[in-house]
Amino acid sequence: MYINGAEVRSGTTKEIRPPHETAHLLGQFHASGEEHIHQAIEAAMNARESWAAMSWEHRASIFLKAAELLATKYRYKMNAATMLGQSKNAFQAEIDAACELIDFLRFNVHFLSQIYKQQPMSPQGMDNRLEYRPLEGFVLAVTPFNFTAIGGNLPSAPAMCGNVVIWKCANTQVYSASVFMEILMEAGLPAGVINLIYPSGPVVGRICYSHPDFAGVHFTGSTGVFQDMWKSIGTNIARFKSYPRIVGETGGKDFVFVHPTADADAVVAGLARGAFEYQGQKCSAASRAYLPSNLADEIKTKLVAELKTMKMGVVDDFTNFINAVIDEASFNNIKTYIDNVKNSDGKASILCGGNCDKSKGYFVEPTVIEATDPGYVTMCEEIFGPVLTIHVYEADRWIHTLDVLDQTSPYALTGAIFARDRYAIDFMTKRLVNSAGNFYINDKPTGAVVGQQPFGGARASGTNDKAGSLLNLYRWLSARTIKETYVSPTNYRYPFHQPE
Ligand code: NAD
Repeated sequence: MYINGAEVRSGTTKEIRPPHETAHLLGQFHASGEEHIHQAIEAAMNARESWAAMSWEHRASIFLKAAELLATKYRYKMNAATMLGQSKNAFQAEIDAACELIDFLRFNVHFLSQIYKQQPMSPQGMDNRLEYRPLEGFVLAVTPFNFTAIGGNLPSAPAMCGNVVIWKCANTQVYSASVFMEILMEAGLPAGVINLIYPSGPVVGRICYSHPDFAGVHFTGSTGVFQDMWKSIGTNIARFKSYPRIVGETGGKDFVFVHPTADADAVVAGLARGAFEYQGQKCSAASRAYLPSNLADEIKTKLVAELKTMKMGVVDDFTNFINAVIDEASFNNIKTYIDNVKNSDGKASILCGGNCDKSKGYFVEPTVIEATDPGYVTMCEEIFGPVLTIHVYEADRWIHTLDVLDQTSPYALTGAIFARDRYAIDFMTKRLVNSAGNFYINDKPTGAVVGQQPFGGARASGTNDKAGSLLNLYRWLSARTIKETYVSPTNYRYPFHQPE
């Protein structure tokens, strides 16, 4: 753990093993007890005043230096930690742990500078200004396993705004998270500003969500966990000094809708990458596709042929496109969905893949399920693995099928449409206005880039505060308005009170 700028060991260790090679003991981490959560909160609150008072130029320099260290000295260490700890191939690690995290740090400095410049008008005789204060208390960042960049961004975005942070990462992302703390410390982040601890989720929640100084939570993870957090925070609402900011990006059931005029080859490439890169463990991964009857056979045949060429295995063999899923619980969950297809009474069948093997690592073959029923469970629920379900619809019923798509799942994170007919593209963009927070035209629904496609979804997919954008940074600021009058009135009476 890193509390108050120092490494802390509890003596209660947990093993870190690569998901693709479970016989290999990669390392261990020291689990946090309740006392470490209290220590982290105390360290953060002690650091708060000096950190909030530090001038923006110096705060910014720390994060820009961290970005530079990550882009140079630490690039390969960080990528390697992500490859080994989270089972990402070299390309997936580079676009996440190096590129996206560097982008988050540099773009957030740029966006925050823009926010600070936004000031109200000052008519003659007065000065008006907005002071963008940090929140009065500490922020809790709770981060998922699947992106090293999200792990780094969730604590550093509020910290950049002058907040102090308790960071609880997923147990399956401890290795790369600890490398990021090393970088932040080398970049000169003062003690106590970000404190990285490894407690269980419910325990950190119980302590933080009843603490008077709890000022907000920056969460990315599953919908159920976020909804429980919100309930606990609501139950304790009278205890906090301020109303906490609740920011959460959560699950998805991301769609690809193929119009009868689509380019079949573009659809096949979009599905192959969009559904199966990083074993489908991206919140944005395509997991349900609607194919028109006129193109379905061609797309299915080509997609199956492509998937058969995807090699699966360890991360240090660079010819592997597919690696392992994150852990045994996830493996078992994905396998159950696949096994249940056999008992679906003909509502669904396996088109390709379906084999699962955990003898050496948690390997699940890229799997395509074909569902005749568009409401079949794998068309609705997030599976978070390399499983794509397709449904073939009658080509002349495409408008009706758009409405089915919109109403099938509670989520609204990402979605893609493929079409060549521009009237149809215009129509679908409008009809699906609330179906996805990130909407793609003739492209896969994954791969959002900071500064280009601000990322986040609505409905059950989160508060849509768009990570890596101005919208997100506003949530960690609490503005104070200051008005100064140059020549103050010295008499309460107005002219109309004067005798004629
Ligand atoms: P998860 O919800 O299991 O865990 C996320 C974090 O919450 C972890 O640090 C975990 O330890 C912690 N946690 C678990 N239970 C908790 C509790 N009761 N109280 C407090 N914290 C608790 O999610 P995961 O498996 O790490 O990540 C996958 C999920 O994240 C998927 O649902 C995916 O869609 C979502 N995700 C969403 C986005 C997005 O931007 N919308 C991005 C990445 C991942």
